[in-house]
Amino acid sequence: MTLEDKQTELDLRYLRMAHIWAENSYCKRRQVGALIVKNKMIISDGYNGTPSGFENVCEDENNQTFPYVLHAEANAITKIARSGNNSENATLYVTDAPCIECSKLIIQAGIKRVIYSRNYRLEDGINLLRKAGVEVCYLELPSDSKPNDK
Ligand SMILES: [Zn+2]
Repeated sequence: MTLEDKQTELDLRYLRMAHIWAENSYCKRRQVGALIVKNKMIISDGYNGTPSGFENVCEDENNQTFPYVLHAEANAITKIARSGNNSENATLYVTDAPCIECSKLIIQAGIKRVIYSRNYRLEDGINLLRKAGVEVCYLELPSDSKPNDK
């Protein structure tokens, strides 16, 4: 097995973990999970949801997501801010392509690779990451057709 194959295999494994982590989300429209890995250690995790202390409800009666719901990437990145670690040169594994708001955070957090497995209707986030020199990689998971897309 080449080194590249090995990296892809690891990437797929972490990506699967991000999908499992997404199951923590209370959001009904879409469950998103994220992991931040640095030096082969998972240093943070996140899923989309309301800020600490808020009720675990993400959508209003019209099934619109509340504006104060944090995205999985934002939760994972801000969690590091409360720890003694940092995300410089880390890899972000996320179930869905990051939006533009999260992409700004990813760039500023010093994250150098982003691996995701579901495309988002907008690609401005991905384009911004690439423009900032972040390696962005789409990997297809065999299970992607099944869960989450409720
Ligand atoms: Zn986002």
